[in-house]
Amino acid sequence: MQKVGIIGGGLGGLASACVLGARGYEVVVFERNEWLGGKAAVLETNGFRFDMGPTILTLPAVLDRIFAEAGRHVARALDLVRLDPQWRSFFEDGSTLDLLADTDAMTSRLAAFSPGTGTAEGYRRFIGLSEQLHRISESYFFWRPVGGLRDMFDARATFQTSILRDVLAMRPGQSVAGTVRGQIPDSRVAQMVDHFTQYVGSAPDASPAVLCGIAHMQTCGGVWYPVGGTYAVPAALTNLAESLGVEFRCGARVEKILISQGVVHGVRLKGGETVGVDALVSNSDSVRTHRELLDGLPARAFERRRRYEPACSGVVLYLGLKQRYEHLLHHNFVFSCDPNEEFDAIYRKGRPAPDPTCYVCAPSGTEPDVAPPGGEALYVLVHTPYLRPGHDWPRMLPAYRRIILEKLKRTAGMEDIESRIVIEHSLTPDDINRRYHVLNGAIYGLASHGRFLGAFKPSNRSPDVRGLYLAGGAAHPGPGMPMVLMSGWIAADSLDQDFGSGTGIAKARPEKNNA
Ligand SMILES: Cc1cc2nc3c(=O)[nH]c(=O)nc-3n(C[C@H](O)[C@H](O)[C@H](O)COP(=O)(O)OP(=O)(O)OC[C@H]3O[C@@H](n4cnc5c(N)ncnc54)[C@H](O)[C@@H]3O)c2cc1C
Repeated sequence: MQKVGIIGGGLGGLASACVLGARGYEVVVFERNEWLGGKAAVLETNGFRFDMGPTILTLPAVLDRIFAEAGRHVARALDLVRLDPQWRSFFEDGSTLDLLADTDAMTSRLAAFSPGTGTAEGYRRFIGLSEQLHRISESYFFWRPVGGLRDMFDARATFQTSILRDVLAMRPGQSVAGTVRGQIPDSRVAQMVDHFTQYVGSAPDASPAVLCGIAHMQTCGGVWYPVGGTYAVPAALTNLAESLGVEFRCGARVEKILISQGVVHGVRLKGGETVGVDALVSNSDSVRTHRELLDGLPARAFERRRRYEPACSGVVLYLGLKQRYEHLLHHNFVFSCDPNEEFDAIYRKGRPAPDPTCYVCAPSGTEPDVAPPGGEALYVLVHTPYLRPGHDWPRMLPAYRRIILEKLKRTAGMEDIESRIVIEHSLTPDDINRRYHVLNGAIYGLASHGRFLGAFKPSNRSPDVRGLYLAGGAAHPGPGMPMVLMSGWIAADSLDQDFGSGTGIAKARPEKNNA
Protein backbone atom coordinates (compact mmCIF):
# COMPACT_ATOMS: atom_id res chain seq x y z
CA MET A 1 0.00 0.00 0.00
CA GLN A 2 1.36 3.43 -0.85
CA LYS A 3 1.64 6.15 1.73
CA VAL A 4 0.21 9.60 1.05
CA GLY A 5 0.77 12.71 3.15
CA ILE A 6 -1.75 15.54 3.23
CA ILE A 7 -0.56 19.00 4.28
CA GLY A 8 -3.50 20.73 5.97
CA GLY A 9 -6.78 19.48 7.34
CA GLY A 10 -9.06 22.09 5.76
CA LEU A 11 -12.13 20.93 3.83
CA GLY A 12 -10.02 20.24 0.73
CA GLY A 13 -7.51 18.16 2.68
CA LEU A 14 -10.26 16.25 4.49
CA ALA A 15 -12.00 15.48 1.20
CA SER A 16 -8.74 14.13 -0.25
CA ALA A 17 -8.15 12.09 2.91
CA CYS A 18 -11.58 10.43 2.63
CA VAL A 19 -11.22 9.63 -1.07
CA LEU A 20 -7.68 8.26 -0.72
CA GLY A 21 -8.59 6.34 2.42
CA ALA A 22 -11.55 4.83 0.59
CA ARG A 23 -9.32 3.87 -2.33
CA GLY A 24 -6.98 1.94 -0.10
CA TYR A 25 -4.06 4.30 0.49
CA GLU A 26 -2.29 4.72 3.80
CA VAL A 27 -3.00 8.38 4.58
CA VAL A 28 -1.57 10.77 7.16
CA VAL A 29 -2.84 14.35 7.54
CA PHE A 30 -0.47 16.98 8.97
CA GLU A 31 -2.36 19.98 10.37
CA ARG A 32 -0.50 22.86 12.01
CA ASN A 33 -3.52 23.93 14.10
CA GLU A 34 -5.00 21.95 16.95
CA TRP A 35 -8.34 21.61 15.10
CA LEU A 36 -9.40 20.13 11.78
CA GLY A 37 -11.57 21.93 9.23
CA GLY A 38 -9.37 24.99 8.67
CA LYS A 39 -11.55 28.04 8.05
CA ALA A 40 -14.68 26.01 8.85
CA ALA A 41 -13.94 26.54 12.54
CA VAL A 42 -16.32 27.07 15.44
CA LEU A 43 -16.37 29.53 18.34
CA GLU A 44 -18.29 28.51 21.46
CA THR A 45 -18.58 31.00 24.28
CA ASN A 46 -21.06 31.92 27.04
CA GLY A 47 -23.84 29.74 25.64
CA PHE A 48 -23.41 31.04 22.05
CA ARG A 49 -22.08 29.00 19.15
CA PHE A 50 -20.75 30.76 16.04
CA ASP A 51 -19.53 29.30 12.78
CA MET A 52 -16.32 31.29 12.38
CA GLY A 53 -15.93 31.01 8.62
CA PRO A 54 -18.29 29.56 5.99
CA THR A 55 -22.02 29.63 6.68
CA ILE A 56 -23.65 29.27 3.25
CA LEU A 57 -23.49 25.66 2.07
CA THR A 58 -24.42 24.98 -1.55
CA LEU A 59 -24.10 21.98 -3.89
CA PRO A 60 -24.30 19.19 -1.29
CA ALA A 61 -24.04 16.77 -4.23
CA VAL A 62 -20.26 17.18 -3.90
CA LEU A 63 -20.41 15.80 -0.37
CA ASP A 64 -22.60 12.94 -1.64
CA ARG A 65 -19.88 11.97 -4.10
CA ILE A 66 -17.15 11.99 -1.43
CA PHE A 67 -19.21 9.83 0.94
CA ALA A 68 -20.14 7.53 -1.94
CA GLU A 69 -16.42 6.80 -2.47
CA ALA A 70 -16.58 4.85 0.77
CA GLY A 71 -20.01 3.40 0.03
CA ARG A 72 -21.62 5.66 2.66
CA HIS A 73 -24.56 8.07 2.57
CA VAL A 74 -24.08 11.66 3.60
CA ALA A 75 -27.61 11.69 5.04
CA ARG A 76 -26.46 9.26 7.75
CA ALA A 77 -23.64 11.59 8.78
CA LEU A 78 -25.14 15.06 8.35
CA ASP A 79 -28.58 16.53 8.90
CA LEU A 80 -28.94 19.12 6.14
CA VAL A 81 -31.85 21.58 6.23
CA ARG A 82 -32.81 23.35 3.01
CA LEU A 83 -33.30 27.12 3.33
CA ASP A 84 -35.77 28.86 1.02
CA PRO A 85 -35.94 31.89 0.72
CA GLN A 86 -32.22 31.63 0.32
CA TRP A 87 -31.38 35.22 1.37
CA ARG A 88 -33.09 38.42 2.39
CA SER A 89 -31.63 41.51 0.73
CA PHE A 90 -31.82 44.93 2.38
CA PHE A 91 -31.25 47.99 0.20
CA GLU A 92 -30.34 51.53 1.17
CA ASP A 93 -33.69 52.89 -0.15
CA GLY A 94 -35.52 50.82 2.50
CA SER A 95 -36.72 48.09 0.13
CA THR A 96 -36.18 44.39 0.82
CA LEU A 97 -36.16 41.44 -1.55
CA ASP A 98 -35.99 37.71 -0.84
CA LEU A 99 -34.08 35.46 -3.20
CA LEU A 100 -36.28 32.42 -3.92
CA ALA A 101 -34.94 29.17 -5.33
CA ASP A 102 -37.78 28.64 -7.79
CA THR A 103 -37.35 30.76 -10.93
CA ASP A 104 -41.11 31.13 -11.58
CA ALA A 105 -41.77 32.25 -8.01
CA MET A 106 -38.80 34.65 -8.14
CA THR A 107 -39.96 36.08 -11.46
CA SER A 108 -43.41 36.81 -9.99
CA ARG A 109 -41.78 38.37 -6.93
CA LEU A 110 -39.67 40.61 -9.18
CA ALA A 111 -42.66 41.65 -11.27
CA ALA A 112 -44.12 43.13 -8.08
CA PHE A 113 -40.77 44.47 -6.80
CA SER A 114 -39.82 46.31 -9.98
CA PRO A 115 -42.99 46.62 -12.10
CA GLY A 116 -42.78 47.68 -15.73
CA THR A 117 -38.97 47.65 -15.91
CA GLY A 118 -38.44 44.28 -17.62
CA THR A 119 -36.50 43.07 -14.58
CA ALA A 120 -38.64 39.98 -14.00
CA GLU A 121 -38.20 38.77 -17.59
CA GLY A 122 -34.52 39.77 -17.47
CA TYR A 123 -34.00 37.64 -14.36
CA ARG A 124 -35.59 34.65 -16.08
CA ARG A 125 -33.29 35.12 -19.10
CA PHE A 126 -30.31 35.49 -16.78
CA ILE A 127 -31.09 32.24 -14.95
CA GLY A 128 -31.42 30.50 -18.35
CA LEU A 129 -27.96 31.79 -19.28
CA SER A 130 -26.60 30.84 -15.87
CA GLU A 131 -27.95 27.30 -16.30
CA GLN A 132 -26.13 27.01 -19.63
CA LEU A 133 -22.87 28.22 -18.04
CA HIS A 134 -23.33 25.81 -15.14
CA ARG A 135 -23.78 22.96 -17.63
CA ILE A 136 -20.60 23.96 -19.47
CA SER A 137 -18.69 24.01 -16.16
CA GLU A 138 -20.03 20.53 -15.35
CA SER A 139 -18.95 19.25 -18.77
CA TYR A 140 -15.48 20.74 -19.05
CA PHE A 141 -14.33 22.36 -15.79
CA PHE A 142 -15.49 20.34 -12.79
CA TRP A 143 -14.18 16.98 -11.51
CA ARG A 144 -10.91 17.12 -13.47
CA PRO A 145 -7.51 18.72 -12.85
CA VAL A 146 -7.83 21.80 -15.04
CA GLY A 147 -5.04 24.39 -15.00
CA GLY A 148 -5.86 26.29 -18.16
CA LEU A 149 -7.95 26.33 -21.32
CA ARG A 150 -5.97 23.48 -22.88
CA ASP A 151 -6.96 21.11 -20.06
CA MET A 152 -10.66 21.83 -20.65
CA PHE A 153 -10.96 20.93 -24.27
CA ASP A 154 -9.33 18.08 -26.11
CA ALA A 155 -7.32 19.84 -28.87
CA ARG A 156 -8.58 17.40 -31.52
CA ALA A 157 -12.17 18.00 -30.57
CA THR A 158 -11.94 21.77 -30.22
CA PHE A 159 -13.22 22.39 -33.70
CA GLN A 160 -16.36 20.34 -33.26
CA THR A 161 -19.35 22.63 -33.67
CA SER A 162 -20.86 21.70 -30.29
CA ILE A 163 -17.63 22.55 -28.48
CA LEU A 164 -17.14 25.80 -30.36
CA ARG A 165 -20.71 26.68 -29.42
CA ASP A 166 -19.91 26.04 -25.76
CA VAL A 167 -16.72 28.11 -25.95
CA LEU A 168 -18.69 31.05 -27.36
CA ALA A 169 -21.48 30.54 -24.81
CA MET A 170 -18.86 31.12 -22.10
CA ARG A 171 -18.84 34.74 -23.36
CA PRO A 172 -15.07 35.08 -23.41
CA GLY A 173 -14.02 38.69 -22.84
CA GLN A 174 -17.23 39.64 -21.02
CA SER A 175 -17.53 40.31 -17.31
CA VAL A 176 -20.08 39.17 -14.73
CA ALA A 177 -21.20 42.76 -14.07
CA GLY A 178 -21.67 43.48 -17.79
CA THR A 179 -23.57 40.23 -18.38
CA VAL A 180 -25.87 40.79 -15.39
CA ARG A 181 -26.58 44.39 -16.31
CA GLY A 182 -27.23 43.43 -19.92
CA GLN A 183 -30.21 41.38 -18.69
CA ILE A 184 -31.43 43.01 -15.47
CA PRO A 185 -32.33 46.71 -15.60
CA ASP A 186 -33.21 47.27 -11.90
CA SER A 187 -29.93 48.29 -10.28
CA ARG A 188 -30.86 46.77 -6.89
CA VAL A 189 -31.63 43.37 -8.41
CA ALA A 190 -28.47 43.55 -10.55
CA GLN A 191 -26.46 44.31 -7.40
CA MET A 192 -27.99 41.32 -5.65
CA VAL A 193 -27.31 39.00 -8.59
CA ASP A 194 -23.74 40.02 -9.30
CA HIS A 195 -22.96 39.64 -5.61
CA PHE A 196 -22.52 35.92 -6.33
CA THR A 197 -18.94 36.81 -7.34
CA GLN A 198 -18.35 37.62 -3.67
CA TYR A 199 -18.43 33.84 -3.12
CA VAL A 200 -15.08 33.87 -4.91
CA GLY A 201 -13.87 37.16 -3.41
CA SER A 202 -13.58 38.95 -6.73
CA ALA A 203 -14.88 42.14 -8.39
CA PRO A 204 -17.91 41.52 -10.65
CA ASP A 205 -16.61 43.89 -13.34
CA ALA A 206 -13.23 42.12 -13.49
CA SER A 207 -14.48 38.51 -13.31
CA PRO A 208 -15.25 36.41 -16.39
CA ALA A 209 -18.89 35.99 -17.41
CA VAL A 210 -18.64 32.20 -16.96
CA LEU A 211 -18.91 32.80 -13.19
CA CYS A 212 -22.56 33.80 -13.78
CA GLY A 213 -23.08 30.01 -13.56
CA ILE A 214 -22.86 30.30 -9.74
CA ALA A 215 -26.39 31.76 -9.66
CA HIS A 216 -27.93 28.63 -11.17
CA MET A 217 -25.76 26.34 -9.03
CA GLN A 218 -27.27 27.97 -5.96
CA THR A 219 -30.88 28.43 -7.04
CA CYS A 220 -31.09 24.92 -8.51
CA GLY A 221 -28.94 23.03 -5.98
CA GLY A 222 -30.26 24.89 -2.95
CA VAL A 223 -28.82 26.57 0.13
CA TRP A 224 -28.38 24.18 3.03
CA TYR A 225 -27.73 24.40 6.75
CA PRO A 226 -25.95 21.52 8.46
CA VAL A 227 -27.56 21.05 11.87
CA GLY A 228 -24.83 21.66 14.43
CA GLY A 229 -23.44 24.44 12.20
CA THR A 230 -20.93 24.36 9.37
CA TYR A 231 -18.43 22.67 11.65
CA ALA A 232 -20.59 19.56 11.35
CA VAL A 233 -19.19 19.19 7.81
CA PRO A 234 -15.48 18.81 8.73
CA ALA A 235 -16.54 16.76 11.76
CA ALA A 236 -18.43 14.32 9.51
CA LEU A 237 -15.53 14.13 7.05
CA THR A 238 -13.08 13.51 9.91
CA ASN A 239 -15.25 10.66 11.22
CA LEU A 240 -15.45 9.18 7.76
CA ALA A 241 -11.68 9.47 7.25
CA GLU A 242 -10.93 7.92 10.65
CA SER A 243 -13.24 5.03 9.87
CA LEU A 244 -11.15 4.47 6.74
CA GLY A 245 -7.93 4.35 8.75
CA VAL A 246 -6.64 7.88 8.05
CA GLU A 247 -4.15 9.13 10.64
CA PHE A 248 -4.47 12.74 11.83
CA ARG A 249 -1.54 14.64 13.30
CA CYS A 250 -2.72 17.99 14.66
CA GLY A 251 -0.13 20.54 15.81
CA ALA A 252 2.17 19.22 13.05
CA ARG A 253 3.42 21.99 10.79
CA VAL A 254 5.10 20.97 7.55
CA GLU A 255 8.15 23.15 6.96
CA LYS A 256 9.53 21.56 3.82
CA ILE A 257 8.45 19.22 1.05
CA LEU A 258 11.33 16.85 0.37
CA ILE A 259 11.97 16.16 -3.29
CA SER A 260 14.74 14.46 -5.12
CA GLN A 261 15.17 14.65 -8.88
CA GLY A 262 11.78 16.27 -9.22
CA VAL A 263 9.92 13.57 -7.26
CA VAL A 264 8.29 13.92 -3.81
CA HIS A 265 9.64 11.57 -1.15
CA GLY A 266 8.66 13.14 2.17
CA VAL A 267 8.06 16.12 4.40
CA ARG A 268 10.01 17.76 7.18
CA LEU A 269 7.98 18.96 10.14
CA LYS A 270 8.66 21.86 12.48
CA GLY A 271 10.97 20.37 15.10
CA GLY A 272 12.96 18.47 12.48
CA GLU A 273 11.08 15.16 12.18
CA THR A 274 10.99 13.83 8.63
CA VAL A 275 8.26 11.55 7.35
CA GLY A 276 8.64 9.59 4.13
CA VAL A 277 5.69 9.47 1.72
CA ASP A 278 5.15 8.30 -1.86
CA ALA A 279 2.94 11.27 -2.76
CA LEU A 280 1.58 14.45 -1.21
CA VAL A 281 -1.58 16.53 -1.39
CA SER A 282 -1.01 20.10 -0.27
CA ASN A 283 -4.14 21.74 1.12
CA SER A 284 -2.02 24.68 2.20
CA ASP A 285 -2.48 27.76 0.02
CA SER A 286 -0.99 26.84 -3.37
CA VAL A 287 1.16 29.96 -3.65
CA ARG A 288 2.56 29.61 -0.13
CA THR A 289 3.14 25.90 -0.79
CA HIS A 290 5.46 26.85 -3.63
CA ARG A 291 7.08 29.89 -1.99
CA GLU A 292 7.66 28.35 1.44
CA LEU A 293 7.63 24.57 1.24
CA LEU A 294 9.42 24.09 -2.08
CA ASP A 295 12.41 25.83 -3.47
CA GLY A 296 14.55 25.83 -6.54
CA LEU A 297 13.19 25.05 -9.97
CA PRO A 298 9.61 24.00 -9.14
CA ALA A 299 8.97 27.18 -7.16
CA ARG A 300 10.37 29.31 -9.99
CA ALA A 301 8.33 27.47 -12.63
CA PHE A 302 5.13 28.02 -10.62
CA GLU A 303 5.86 31.75 -10.22
CA ARG A 304 6.56 32.16 -13.93
CA ARG A 305 3.28 30.56 -14.97
CA ARG A 306 1.09 33.54 -14.02
CA ARG A 307 0.64 36.43 -11.60
CA TYR A 308 -1.17 35.24 -8.48
CA GLU A 309 -3.53 37.85 -7.02
CA PRO A 310 -5.11 37.06 -3.64
CA ALA A 311 -8.91 37.20 -3.39
CA CYS A 312 -10.46 39.60 -0.89
CA SER A 313 -10.15 39.30 2.86
CA GLY A 314 -12.77 40.21 5.45
CA VAL A 315 -13.76 41.31 8.92
CA VAL A 316 -16.23 39.21 10.90
CA LEU A 317 -18.06 40.35 14.02
CA TYR A 318 -19.46 37.56 16.20
CA LEU A 319 -22.19 39.22 18.25
CA GLY A 320 -23.99 37.35 21.01
CA LEU A 321 -27.38 39.10 21.26
CA LYS A 322 -29.72 38.76 24.24
CA GLN A 323 -32.68 39.18 21.87
CA ARG A 324 -32.93 37.97 18.29
CA TYR A 325 -34.23 40.09 15.39
CA GLU A 326 -37.43 38.56 14.07
CA HIS A 327 -37.21 40.33 10.70
CA LEU A 328 -33.97 38.62 9.70
CA LEU A 329 -33.82 35.38 7.72
CA HIS A 330 -31.05 32.85 8.28
CA HIS A 331 -28.97 34.56 5.53
CA ASN A 332 -29.18 38.31 4.86
CA PHE A 333 -27.28 40.78 2.71
CA VAL A 334 -27.35 44.44 3.65
CA PHE A 335 -26.23 46.08 0.44
CA SER A 336 -23.97 49.09 -0.05
CA CYS A 337 -25.46 52.19 -1.73
CA ASP A 338 -22.98 52.07 -4.57
CA PRO A 339 -21.40 48.75 -5.63
CA ASN A 340 -18.95 50.54 -7.96
CA GLU A 341 -17.54 52.61 -5.11
CA GLU A 342 -17.51 49.55 -2.84
CA PHE A 343 -15.68 47.24 -5.26
CA ASP A 344 -13.33 50.02 -6.39
CA ALA A 345 -12.24 50.48 -2.77
CA ILE A 346 -11.84 46.76 -1.99
CA TYR A 347 -10.38 45.47 -5.23
CA ARG A 348 -8.56 48.42 -6.80
CA LYS A 349 -7.68 50.99 -4.15
CA GLY A 350 -6.99 48.34 -1.50
CA ARG A 351 -9.00 50.20 1.17
CA PRO A 352 -11.94 49.06 3.30
CA ALA A 353 -15.16 50.22 1.62
CA PRO A 354 -16.59 53.38 3.22
CA ASP A 355 -20.14 52.00 2.82
CA PRO A 356 -19.77 48.21 2.80
CA THR A 357 -22.17 45.38 2.01
CA CYS A 358 -22.68 43.36 5.20
CA TYR A 359 -23.54 39.68 5.12
CA VAL A 360 -25.54 38.86 8.25
CA CYS A 361 -26.14 35.30 9.42
CA ALA A 362 -28.86 34.81 12.03
CA PRO A 363 -29.06 31.03 12.53
CA SER A 364 -31.25 30.88 15.67
CA GLY A 365 -34.47 30.66 13.62
CA THR A 366 -33.18 27.40 12.12
CA GLU A 367 -31.36 26.07 15.18
CA PRO A 368 -32.33 27.78 18.47
CA ASP A 369 -29.47 26.05 20.33
CA VAL A 370 -26.92 28.47 18.87
CA ALA A 371 -27.80 31.00 21.61
CA PRO A 372 -29.39 31.12 25.05
CA PRO A 373 -33.25 31.20 24.84
CA GLY A 374 -34.54 34.12 22.75
CA GLY A 375 -31.00 35.22 21.84
CA GLU A 376 -29.03 35.18 18.62
CA ALA A 377 -25.50 34.21 17.58
CA LEU A 378 -25.28 37.00 15.00
CA TYR A 379 -22.45 36.79 12.49
CA VAL A 380 -21.60 39.84 10.39
CA LEU A 381 -19.08 39.53 7.55
CA VAL A 382 -17.77 42.47 5.53
CA HIS A 383 -15.33 41.92 2.69
CA THR A 384 -12.16 43.96 2.83
CA PRO A 385 -9.06 44.17 0.64
CA TYR A 386 -6.42 41.49 1.04
CA LEU A 387 -3.62 42.62 3.36
CA ARG A 388 -1.50 45.42 1.90
CA PRO A 389 1.54 47.11 3.45
CA GLY A 390 0.28 49.64 6.00
CA HIS A 391 -2.90 47.74 6.93
CA ASP A 392 -2.87 47.69 10.70
CA TRP A 393 -6.10 45.95 11.66
CA PRO A 394 -5.75 46.09 15.44
CA ARG A 395 -5.71 49.89 14.97
CA MET A 396 -8.28 50.00 12.11
CA LEU A 397 -10.89 47.66 13.60
CA PRO A 398 -12.62 49.94 16.18
CA ALA A 399 -13.46 52.60 13.56
CA TYR A 400 -14.52 49.99 10.98
CA ARG A 401 -16.70 48.22 13.55
CA ARG A 402 -18.56 51.52 14.03
CA ILE A 403 -19.09 51.83 10.25
CA ILE A 404 -20.47 48.26 10.13
CA LEU A 405 -22.86 48.76 13.05
CA GLU A 406 -24.07 52.10 11.62
CA LYS A 407 -24.77 50.34 8.32
CA LEU A 408 -26.85 47.67 10.07
CA LYS A 409 -28.77 50.32 11.99
CA ARG A 410 -29.43 52.46 8.92
CA THR A 411 -30.19 49.84 6.28
CA ALA A 412 -31.31 46.67 8.08
CA GLY A 413 -33.61 48.01 10.80
CA MET A 414 -31.27 47.05 13.65
CA GLU A 415 -31.25 50.47 15.37
CA ASP A 416 -30.83 49.07 18.88
CA ILE A 417 -28.16 46.51 18.04
CA GLU A 418 -25.62 47.85 20.54
CA SER A 419 -28.02 47.49 23.46
CA ARG A 420 -28.65 43.83 22.52
CA ILE A 421 -24.97 42.76 22.40
CA VAL A 422 -23.91 40.72 25.43
CA ILE A 423 -20.70 39.24 24.07
CA GLU A 424 -18.54 40.18 21.12
CA HIS A 425 -15.59 38.69 19.24
CA SER A 426 -14.04 39.54 15.91
CA LEU A 427 -11.86 38.16 13.13
CA THR A 428 -9.71 40.51 11.06
CA PRO A 429 -7.59 39.97 7.92
CA ASP A 430 -4.55 39.65 10.22
CA ASP A 431 -6.29 36.90 12.19
CA ILE A 432 -7.30 35.09 8.98
CA ASN A 433 -3.72 35.25 7.74
CA ARG A 434 -2.31 33.91 10.98
CA ARG A 435 -4.93 31.24 11.76
CA TYR A 436 -5.21 29.73 8.29
CA HIS A 437 -1.80 30.50 6.79
CA VAL A 438 -3.20 31.97 3.57
CA LEU A 439 -1.94 34.47 1.00
CA ASN A 440 -2.25 38.04 2.37
CA GLY A 441 -5.23 37.13 4.55
CA ALA A 442 -7.33 36.07 1.53
CA ILE A 443 -10.56 34.35 2.46
CA TYR A 444 -11.17 32.78 -0.93
CA GLY A 445 -7.75 31.82 -2.25
CA LEU A 446 -6.88 33.51 -5.54
CA ALA A 447 -8.93 36.24 -7.22
CA SER A 448 -10.83 35.29 -10.38
CA HIS A 449 -9.84 38.48 -12.17
CA GLY A 450 -9.35 38.44 -15.93
CA ARG A 451 -12.24 38.38 -18.41
CA PHE A 452 -10.70 35.56 -20.45
CA LEU A 453 -8.75 33.39 -18.04
CA GLY A 454 -9.83 34.62 -14.58
CA ALA A 455 -11.63 31.38 -13.68
CA PHE A 456 -8.45 29.28 -13.95
CA LYS A 457 -6.46 28.39 -10.85
CA PRO A 458 -3.35 26.21 -10.46
CA SER A 459 -4.07 22.66 -11.55
CA ASN A 460 -4.58 19.98 -8.90
CA ARG A 461 -1.78 17.92 -10.44
CA SER A 462 1.52 19.79 -10.17
CA PRO A 463 3.22 20.03 -13.56
CA ASP A 464 6.49 20.78 -11.76
CA VAL A 465 6.90 18.06 -9.13
CA ARG A 466 5.95 14.43 -9.62
CA GLY A 467 3.85 13.18 -6.73
CA LEU A 468 2.58 16.63 -5.66
CA TYR A 469 -1.14 17.46 -5.85
CA LEU A 470 -2.97 20.63 -4.80
CA ALA A 471 -6.32 20.94 -3.04
CA GLY A 472 -8.10 23.96 -1.58
CA GLY A 473 -9.39 27.41 -2.41
CA ALA A 474 -6.20 28.50 -4.19
CA ALA A 475 -6.26 25.47 -6.53
CA HIS A 476 -8.70 24.38 -9.23
CA PRO A 477 -11.73 24.76 -9.29
CA GLY A 478 -11.48 27.54 -6.69
CA PRO A 479 -12.84 28.64 -3.32
CA GLY A 480 -16.04 28.06 -1.36
CA MET A 481 -17.08 24.87 0.39
CA PRO A 482 -18.35 22.85 -2.58
CA MET A 483 -15.43 23.85 -4.79
CA VAL A 484 -12.72 23.08 -2.22
CA LEU A 485 -14.37 19.74 -1.46
CA MET A 486 -14.34 19.05 -5.20
CA SER A 487 -10.69 20.16 -5.40
CA GLY A 488 -9.88 17.59 -2.70
CA TRP A 489 -11.65 14.91 -4.70
CA ILE A 490 -9.85 15.91 -7.93
CA ALA A 491 -6.42 15.97 -6.25
CA ALA A 492 -7.03 12.51 -4.78
CA ASP A 493 -8.41 11.13 -8.03
CA SER A 494 -5.45 12.52 -10.04
CA LEU A 495 -3.05 10.94 -7.54
CA ASP A 496 -4.88 7.64 -7.85
CA GLN A 497 -4.75 7.88 -11.66
CA ASP A 498 -0.96 8.27 -11.42
CA PHE A 499 -0.15 5.86 -8.58
CA GLY A 500 -2.96 3.37 -8.32
CA SER A 501 -5.70 1.71 -10.22
CA GLY A 502 -7.40 5.03 -10.94
CA THR A 503 -10.64 3.12 -11.10
CA GLY A 504 -12.37 5.23 -8.52
CA ILE A 505 -13.75 2.06 -7.04
CA ALA A 506 -13.45 1.94 -3.29
CA LYS A 507 -11.32 -0.95 -2.13
CA ALA A 508 -12.59 -2.94 0.77
CA ARG A 509 -11.18 -1.64 4.04
CA PRO A 510 -12.23 -2.65 7.50
CA GLU A 511 -14.50 -0.04 9.07
CA LYS A 512 -13.41 1.27 12.45
CA ASN A 513 -16.79 2.80 13.27
CA ASN A 514 -19.96 3.75 11.49
CA ALA A 515 -19.49 7.12 9.80
C1 LIG B 1 -15.06 34.42 7.22
C2 LIG B 1 -15.25 33.44 6.10
C3 LIG B 1 -16.50 33.25 5.54
C4 LIG B 1 -16.69 32.33 4.51
N1 LIG B 1 -17.96 32.11 4.05
C5 LIG B 1 -18.17 31.10 3.17
C6 LIG B 1 -19.49 30.67 2.89
O1 LIG B 1 -20.47 31.17 3.46
N2 LIG B 1 -19.66 29.65 2.00
C7 LIG B 1 -18.60 29.03 1.41
O2 LIG B 1 -18.81 28.09 0.63
N3 LIG B 1 -17.33 29.40 1.69
C8 LIG B 1 -17.10 30.42 2.55
N4 LIG B 1 -15.83 30.75 2.91
C9 LIG B 1 -14.71 30.14 2.17
C10 LIG B 1 -14.43 28.73 2.67
O3 LIG B 1 -14.35 28.74 4.06
C11 LIG B 1 -13.12 28.29 2.11
O4 LIG B 1 -13.11 28.36 0.69
C12 LIG B 1 -12.77 26.85 2.51
O5 LIG B 1 -13.16 26.52 3.82
C13 LIG B 1 -11.27 26.70 2.35
O6 LIG B 1 -10.93 25.36 2.48
P1 LIG B 1 -9.47 24.87 2.11
O7 LIG B 1 -9.55 23.43 1.81
O8 LIG B 1 -8.88 25.77 1.07
O9 LIG B 1 -8.64 24.96 3.43
P2 LIG B 1 -8.41 25.97 4.64
O10 LIG B 1 -9.66 26.14 5.39
O11 LIG B 1 -7.68 27.19 4.18
O12 LIG B 1 -7.45 25.05 5.48
C14 LIG B 1 -6.11 24.81 5.13
C15 LIG B 1 -5.47 24.17 6.31
O13 LIG B 1 -4.11 23.92 6.03
C16 LIG B 1 -3.37 24.14 7.20
N5 LIG B 1 -1.97 24.38 6.82
C17 LIG B 1 -1.50 25.37 6.03
N6 LIG B 1 -0.17 25.27 5.89
C18 LIG B 1 0.21 24.18 6.60
C19 LIG B 1 1.46 23.56 6.85
N7 LIG B 1 2.60 24.05 6.33
N8 LIG B 1 1.50 22.45 7.64
C20 LIG B 1 0.36 21.93 8.18
N9 LIG B 1 -0.85 22.51 7.98
C21 LIG B 1 -0.93 23.61 7.20
C22 LIG B 1 -4.02 25.34 7.82
O14 LIG B 1 -3.74 25.44 9.20
C23 LIG B 1 -5.50 25.05 7.55
O15 LIG B 1 -6.10 24.35 8.60
C24 LIG B 1 -15.60 31.63 3.98
C25 LIG B 1 -14.32 31.80 4.54
C26 LIG B 1 -14.15 32.68 5.60
C27 LIG B 1 -12.80 32.83 6.25
